[in-house]
Amino acid sequence: MIYDLIIIGAGPAGLTAGLYGARARMSTLILEKSKNGGQIVTTDEVANYPGVPDGSTGPSIIARMVEQCKEFGAEIKKDGIIDIDLEGDIKVLKAESGETYEAKSIIIATGASPRKIGCPGEAEFSGKGVSYCATCDGDFFTDLEIFAIGGGDTALEEAMFLTKFGRKVTVVHRRDEFRAAKSIVEKAEANPKIEFLMDSVVEEIKGDGIVEAIVFKNKVTGELTEVKADEEDGTFGIFVFVGYIPQTELFKGKIKLDDSGYVLTDDLMKTNIEGVFAAGDVRFKSLRQVVTATADGAIAAVQAEKYIEEKFE
Ligand code: NAP
Repeated sequence: MIYDLIIIGAGPAGLTAGLYGARARMSTLILEKSKNGGQIVTTDEVANYPGVPDGSTGPSIIARMVEQCKEFGAEIKKDGIIDIDLEGDIKVLKAESGETYEAKSIIIATGASPRKIGCPGEAEFSGKGVSYCATCDGDFFTDLEIFAIGGGDTALEEAMFLTKFGRKVTVVHRRDEFRAAKSIVEKAEANPKIEFLMDSVVEEIKGDGIVEAIVFKNKVTGELTEVKADEEDGTFGIFVFVGYIPQTELFKGKIKLDDSGYVLTDDLMKTNIEGVFAAGDVRFKSLRQVVTATADGAIAAVQAEKYIEEKFE
């Protein structure tokens, strides 16, 4: 079958596009390569999504979005796209399942994934002491020491969340000034379980099967400091929150991206290819939040509907 609309990615942007697409009576398929929800499911507390009461978690918001989307008739399928042809009027997507999907319009809502530090030991100890998700892994470090790397909103918010588990959380930032919002910094500074190591980067992560030591480099003095796990603990946690990179590998050379790989769109979520739209964190934009992702998703779906009406009917 040829769908009216295929959405790639089932985060807040993709699910909202699905809701609007299906509600406009378009045959709508959402394809997600892993778990529904995207980055927000790694967040324990969503405090700034309007109308959502205190204490809502990322997973609970996503569960409701999925339900609402399906109620309107959108189909959600687990399948990863490995190749895409956007040139013709009918867009063709090849999936890892071996299936080929076709659609009159496409919304790219593939989001972004955590950036790596890129130091020796990071990949080796990923899942063995190095983590990118506090909600997923915080519990493993109950009563242990934790290092949270990064100086943005995510690093400080997740560091505060991690104090629920670790006996001490040290935020390590490469400058002497935070990128995070002042209100978030002040809250973190007031937390007695949080310490700060400024002007510092992670030079190396060491261990034998699990993380046992971390080497920091002071950016100002160049001095290297190795911190070893407490003898009784044997290990500690390293949580990396140094930003995100857009998931646009699949689209390189096929649609216009900026220098960092984000999809370039206009205000109507249109890319440079007719019938192809982008929504959410994968776009070049100034504010990446759930609220802006859902807004993008709604606009993209409405534009897809208009496009199909004009082009095919
Ligand atoms: P971000 O704002 O891009 O911050 C990334 C941080 O990592 C920066 O402090 C950066 O340092 C540091 N960094 C980057 N590469 C590094 C490296 N190789 N080694 C060490 N440090 C490195 O990313 P984010 O904090 O994940 O936030 C992403 C977006 O989501 C932002 O727009 C943010 O406002 C938003 N967000 C909002 C909320 C909220 O409103 N409650 C919560 C979470 C996220 P420099 O500062 O020196 O560049």
